[in-house]
Amino acid sequence: MSDDATSDPPDEAATEAFTYNGGRVDPGESANIRYGISETYLGDPVRIPVTVVNGEHPGPTVFLSAAAHGDELNGIEVVREVAHDWDHSILHGTLVCLPVMNVPGFLAQERYLPIYDRDLNRSFPGREGSTSARRMANQIFTNFIEPCDLGLDFHTSTRGRTNMLHVRANTERSTVARLAKAFSSNVIIAGEGPSGTLRREATEAGIPTITVEMGEAHRFQRRLIDRALTGVASVLAEFGLHRESSVHWPGWRTVIDDDDEKTWLRADAGGIVDMKRGRGQLVEEGEVICTITNPFKEDEDIVTVEAPFTGLIVGVLENPVVYPGNPLCHLVGLSPDTLTALERERTTERSRSDLRQGDD
Ligand SMILES: [Zn+2]
Repeated sequence: MSDDATSDPPDEAATEAFTYNGGRVDPGESANIRYGISETYLGDPVRIPVTVVNGEHPGPTVFLSAAAHGDELNGIEVVREVAHDWDHSILHGTLVCLPVMNVPGFLAQERYLPIYDRDLNRSFPGREGSTSARRMANQIFTNFIEPCDLGLDFHTSTRGRTNMLHVRANTERSTVARLAKAFSSNVIIAGEGPSGTLRREATEAGIPTITVEMGEAHRFQRRLIDRALTGVASVLAEFGLHRESSVHWPGWRTVIDDDDEKTWLRADAGGIVDMKRGRGQLVEEGEVICTITNPFKEDEDIVTVEAPFTGLIVGVLENPVVYPGNPLCHLVGLSPDTLTALERERTTERSRSDLRQGDD
């Protein structure tokens, strides 16, 4: 485990080739690579797509990764657009773009590796000679993560739920906090993250990394993708990869840490959910978030779920059926200052309606 003070990315690294096992990408060059990380039941290679863009000018090396969970698609489009649609003639440094890490899960359109339902995003940094998931993680980590100075790992909510765009980051480390703020999301949820996640293990290996959560599985959500692209551009500006652009300010920001009010509200009854409020919306304490009813909509059996405190809905159920104990929504409290800033920002522009409609 390294301290952040020693892992600040160099502002002026020497212009040098990006190397991985079996290949190199020289300054001023880009390469589309299909890199074998495992083998199928048929003995064919399982190959992940990787695009390495090595700029003409020296600077930090940044990875952008997506689909560690195979059905989380929004990040794939973010990474592809950065890799293939952006002008890289101005790039100071190197981009390592990994749009689909969990190839077996992606092919099956499932969250986990279909092999024994292993979670690739609990298998980092991986290990040689270990399980199939850890071997794959090890191939990705040693070849394409360890050579980097910083990282952005894109996710969505689990199937059946949705998230407003937010960042998860270990903000106790200074470079991670700087990266999280540079991404320019309204909400940052602080914490080191579970063991085996790419962001935690990369950060502990001296590569400050954040997770970006955005929207729902199985979809491309254009507005969220565009917001994430703004975040990437802002990060590249902050760390000197794009020197002509500037860091983006999201209008308001809250960092939610252990001391802040936050909760996953859970259903206390099974039934069908009528969700009244959506992702990215503000709710007042005592306001009805949803009702849960049985198939007959019998009045005496209606369960009403109210907000326990005034806050922002960061994540919410999409599939409107629950067993008792299933999550309904992820609510985070906001400080009075943040609340004021949020309301001001949302009411000054055309976005007055956003306050009611959420962020999509
Ligand atoms: Zn995920």
